[in-house]
Amino acid sequence: MPEPIKARNKLPAEAVKRRNVELALSNAEQIFRLLVDAVSDYAIFALDPNGYVLTWNRGAERFKGYKANEIVGQHFSRFYMRSDIENGKPDMELRVAADEGRYEEEGWRVRKDGSLFWANVVITALRDQSGVLRGFAKVTRDLTERKRAEENLQQLNENLEKKVRERTEDLIKAAERLETAVKSRDEFLSIASHELKTPLTSLKLQVQMRKRAIEKQGAQAPFTLERLRQMVEDDEKQINRLNQLVDDMLDITRITAGKLTLQTELVDLCALIQEVTDRFAPQLEAAGCQVFFDADCKVEGQWDLYRIEQVFINLLTNAMKYGAGKPIQIKVSAADGIAKLAVRDYGVGIAAEDHERIFLQFERAISASEVSGLGLGLYIVRQIVEAHGGRILLESKLGEGSLFKVELPIANEPARRQSHQSR
Ligand code: ADP
Repeated sequence: MPEPIKARNKLPAEAVKRRNVELALSNAEQIFRLLVDAVSDYAIFALDPNGYVLTWNRGAERFKGYKANEIVGQHFSRFYMRSDIENGKPDMELRVAADEGRYEEEGWRVRKDGSLFWANVVITALRDQSGVLRGFAKVTRDLTERKRAEENLQQLNENLEKKVRERTEDLIKAAERLETAVKSRDEFLSIASHELKTPLTSLKLQVQMRKRAIEKQGAQAPFTLERLRQMVEDDEKQINRLNQLVDDMLDITRITAGKLTLQTELVDLCALIQEVTDRFAPQLEAAGCQVFFDADCKVEGQWDLYRIEQVFINLLTNAMKYGAGKPIQIKVSAADGIAKLAVRDYGVGIAAEDHERIFLQFERAISASEVSGLGLGLYIVRQIVEAHGGRILLESKLGEGSLFKVELPIANEPARRQSHQSR
């Protein structure tokens, strides 16, 4: 009698055990596959030994943008930037993973839409029990946000460092400026006291001389009228010099405080220059300077009479100081809405490298022992001319005299508007 089917199909206990183990294993494999597939924070996929994609999980789809059916069978180099592909990076990574078992790095990778993401990549070689390379496991994490946060932090750090550097530089510059200011103040005080002392000493000597003469001669008139006139003229000269020095210092204070103001009125430049030149006839004669005056009749404009006179007096006295014994040419003209005043001398001249410098405060191109001066005149002149919206130009060579040219707009729009502030 045949055995019942059930009894015939019944497996021996050993086989049942084996089958249960196989079932459990295949179950575990399935669960593992499901697990890998379900992971969405990591791209986990397999490559064959040549780098072609074999499997794809949800994380890979999420980071890289490809569906499994779009990418399985494609070479994994498409996740790399063109420059990396040209440099053979994908193959190099597989080689290292094959040789050393593992390759890890962080770097830029390319999504399906061409955008980049910062990835942490681990490639692990998969070998079977006999050591044959069966492929690679690739686990990738998207660290773009961390990277961006790091970059932002780095940027913030760099900005902070830059700011600190800039502030430090500002501080150093401020300290240097302060040092220069203290130095120029000291220089100024020493020159100014010397300049003030000279006329004061002269006046003091004159007074002492007269005092002695009066004491000696009692009630008798000690000086002739002519001698008296001479003495008074000398006194006046020294007083004028003192006055000029004090005025210059006050102007510097005003300019530095931004308080140089203009009181404009209709001025005839020709008449003004002629009048001042006439007034300076005695000084010009004493300096041995013959004046040649060339003027277009009436060059009128809205200017500050006192300040324009000051500009001309400075240029004229410089021409006398630095060109004594030589002629001086003065020209007033107008063209295209600009009034022009030129003062030319044939004196010591100015070297090209000093042309800019001499218009700055306390800057001189000659030593105090040769010709005394504070080095303020041209600075003040330029400030006045520029306050009128004009400019001052210089043509000069050392030893060949100088030509100072002042240009003033006739329809004047001064930089500093008319004001009633006292001068
Ligand atoms: P100061 O005459 O008191 O020194 P300025 O500011 O008027 O001051 O002139 C600055 C410098 O420019 C002078 O020290 C001198 O070296 C040079 N300078 C000015 N005018 C002339 C000139 N006409 N010829 C030669 N040098 C001049």
